[in-house]
Amino acid sequence: MSHFDTLKLNLHYGGLMEIIGGRFSYNGGASKQGIVVDPDLMTWSCFDGYCEEFSIEGGLVERVWWKLHHESMDTLKCIGVVASDSELMRMCSQAMSTCREVDVFIEQEEKGKDGEEADVNLEQSAAVETESEKALSAESEKAPSAEENESEIGEGESEEAEENQSQEAEENQSQSEEAEENQSEAAADESDKDAGNESEIDSEKEEALREAKRKKDKKGKSKVLEDEEDIGARYDMEIEDAVASFVDEEVDFRRTILESSDSYEFKEAVLDYALANAKNIEQNRWDKTKIGYKCGEGGKCKWKLYCSYDEPHGKWVIKTKCGYHSCTPKGRCKMLKAPVIAKLFLHKLRQKPNFWPIKMQKYIKETWRLLRTRWKSSCRPIIGLDGTFFKGIVKGCLLTAVGHDPNNQIYPIAWAVVQAETGDNWLWFMKNLKADLGLEDGSGYVIISDRCRGRGI
Ligand SMILES: [Zn+2]
Repeated sequence: MSHFDTLKLNLHYGGLMEIIGGRFSYNGGASKQGIVVDPDLMTWSCFDGYCEEFSIEGGLVERVWWKLHHESMDTLKCIGVVASDSELMRMCSQAMSTCREVDVFIEQEEKGKDGEEADVNLEQSAAVETESEKALSAESEKAPSAEENESEIGEGESEEAEENQSQEAEENQSQSEEAEENQSEAAADESDKDAGNESEIDSEKEEALREAKRKKDKKGKSKVLEDEEDIGARYDMEIEDAVASFVDEEVDFRRTILESSDSYEFKEAVLDYALANAKNIEQNRWDKTKIGYKCGEGGKCKWKLYCSYDEPHGKWVIKTKCGYHSCTPKGRCKMLKAPVIAKLFLHKLRQKPNFWPIKMQKYIKETWRLLRTRWKSSCRPIIGLDGTFFKGIVKGCLLTAVGHDPNNQIYPIAWAVVQAETGDNWLWFMKNLKADLGLEDGSGYVIISDRCRGRGI
């Protein structure tokens, strides 16, 4: 991972976001500057992982505020726990297209405090959220920056929802203010300047705000999720949507390619196929008696698989199969959603319930590290080099370095994909190999190659 692919995270934690004198201020807590992360791997649970890694006391992360590093505190944006991953992706993409550095302020759930105190803090946070929305909408009305324009174009729908939300919140506010005429108009208009308004947001308003937020997050979907519901519930929503938008097709009754007494086995087989062949597969049909998959790359690729329960046999049988991919794999698989990944790590998760994604990333990196350290500690000091062309849809050249283990079996050390087998590419590969394995001046090691033209080093 080069520094071109990484994002710098300045993490502020353990404090509470407040509005003081009309300005955002993150009070209390501490910070950790310059955490290097891979933006492609950022998920909501990463923040819970950081909290644990840095031994931050408190509950799960409830809310995250962020801004680009060079921006002022007035531009803070808030991400709630519901539908957060898509907003996190937006944060990462904005940062990656500009300064590659984000300031993040974490607010955690109250833990270990009595109910009353927690309520007060909840009110404060609700007030802060209202302030944030007002500040944001006011800002975009006054002088939208180029960046905000960009996001407005992409998210007209959510902007509209946000406006509705703040209107709804304001309406609720004004309704309750009718009962308190003495404090009426000033409170609605100048709430972003007056910290005293925090106490005026009663539980009803707070509930309205939360409701509006949920509606915004689900973009008008009929079923509204509770805050506490987890990723699994979100996955269910996706399934329901996919089923709703599924267009039935004419089924070709070819069968007996795969027979199984259980749909679970069928799903496992498709997942194994997708992982082993690096194919992007997407499930497009869910039913008690039917399951369908299609190529996740979209476009003109016709790959599909349809399976249903065959009553006379009492088995699940493949009815339609188009097994040829005409697409180019892009290294992603739509089947690999949180519950599926969790299943792959199930055994490890049972052993270690706090095995957060950030630790999983470390675990995977550790596996790669073992590959080279074990070569050094237990294999013969021989490195075999070779390069070969890709003959499939993806063109290029694979450079490999293999060793021999004590049983004289081939041991993979390193490989790289390059455009062509040239001297420059071999030099780059060898330099990395030398640095990674700590070969120093190479004395004591034997390199075997077929001395093809490209390897002039
Ligand atoms: Zn395909």
